[in-house]
Amino acid sequence: ETRIGGIAAARIAAFAAEEAKVYAAARPRTRAALAAGAEPWLAGVPMHWMRDWPQPFPMLVAAAKGALIEDLDGHRIDDFCLGDTGSMFGHSPAPVARAIRAQAGAGLTYMLPTEAALQAGQLLCDVFGPMRWQVATTATDANRFALRVARAVTGRRKVLVFDGCYHGTVDDAMVCLEGGKTVSRPGLVGQVEDLSLVAVAVPFNDLAAVEQALAAGDVAAILTEPVMTNSCMVLPAPGFHDGLRDLASRYGAVLILDETHTISSGLGGYTRVHGLKPDIFVVGKCVAGGVPTAVWGLTPEIAARFAAYDATRPSGHSGMGTTLSANPLQFAALVATLSQVMTPANYARMEAGAARLCAGLSKAVSRRKLPWHVVRVGARVEFICAPGPLRNGFDAARAHAPALEAALHIGLLNRGCLIAPFHNMMLISPATTRAQIDRLIAAFDAVTAQLLE
Ligand code: PMP
Repeated sequence: ETRIGGIAAARIAAFAAEEAKVYAAARPRTRAALAAGAEPWLAGVPMHWMRDWPQPFPMLVAAAKGALIEDLDGHRIDDFCLGDTGSMFGHSPAPVARAIRAQAGAGLTYMLPTEAALQAGQLLCDVFGPMRWQVATTATDANRFALRVARAVTGRRKVLVFDGCYHGTVDDAMVCLEGGKTVSRPGLVGQVEDLSLVAVAVPFNDLAAVEQALAAGDVAAILTEPVMTNSCMVLPAPGFHDGLRDLASRYGAVLILDETHTISSGLGGYTRVHGLKPDIFVVGKCVAGGVPTAVWGLTPEIAARFAAYDATRPSGHSGMGTTLSANPLQFAALVATLSQVMTPANYARMEAGAARLCAGLSKAVSRRKLPWHVVRVGARVEFICAPGPLRNGFDAARAHAPALEAALHIGLLNRGCLIAPFHNMMLISPATTRAQIDRLIAAFDAVTAQLLE
């Protein structure tokens, strides 16, 4: 009998089929609306990731506020996905909604800064450190631009990434390890270039492999998350970040920390909480409370090196920036978020809630004697359907159990709890209540009990 994560594969399939029926039966309005209106979209959805949820058809959202999301059929669901971090501070935080309303009648995009931009710049320095900042619209773009700067100031070609990483749809980072070699990821659509020409992948937590790659002398930048959050979560081993910093400096590579998910760690992100020293700092998604915004900051030293480069480069397009970036709506939302939403008090609530969730899920896992584990990075909690701890992307890929996870996700959704698709991440916002957390723990307990029947 095949077992996945300690659970019979046949039972998983039967449970998932039953839950899919329950989901569909509870959503007549959603079904009718999709039947009448989905066709104009490619493959029926406005962004193809929306097909990757475990439900048989997408949930149409009617409204969301705080940590609650309501679908077209009137189901009120506790939202622990929170737009996969875009709404980590809750849906429509009041200060952000007010700031958007105030700006809404005064122009939405000008390609010129506002006075609020100046305020936002100071707030970015206060919260994340004395960097020299730029605004982009997505974390993907911020990472792309950071990579250009790293290549410009070093005159080198490659980016070093960790096997199993994700930094948005940054082409150059879309590599993985296969039999010890860096290759383009197999699923990439329309990929014509061999990405191993511009990237090298090594295992996370492996400083010897990092050093070996850097010794080739062609690495412009190390691009990493402080914690690998886009596979099953992999925590850095003690000393790993100090080692990375040392190696980057020793071999002249720029260290880019992508805090787009680890901003869950606490005020200022993992970098500030753990005293890390990146050369370039990137954060997107929730940094403006859900208004599409990302920021990237250079240390004064990298900024000076870039200024010297910039002064002598040939004229013409830089390859950086997008027309709608650094717009007044972003500044209004940034100021509101940085000054009134990303507060120590809110982070304390998130931390306490996440600790409660982590403890509750861990207890359920051990009570049911499941060979699973639970990890937490501040407000971000994940259950992993395999034993831990995981050391790198290889371990994480082996721990990933798509069929089991999909069954769990739809089971949780039918019991009123939405968690992120693709992996098992749950986020606690400042608006998330204890009652919501306890409902999720109870739903998790109920679903695992049924899967073990
Ligand atoms: N960096 C990290 C660490 C991410 O997790 C993601 C998205 N999951 C991105 C960058 C890209 O963000 P976006 O899709 O908003 O460009």
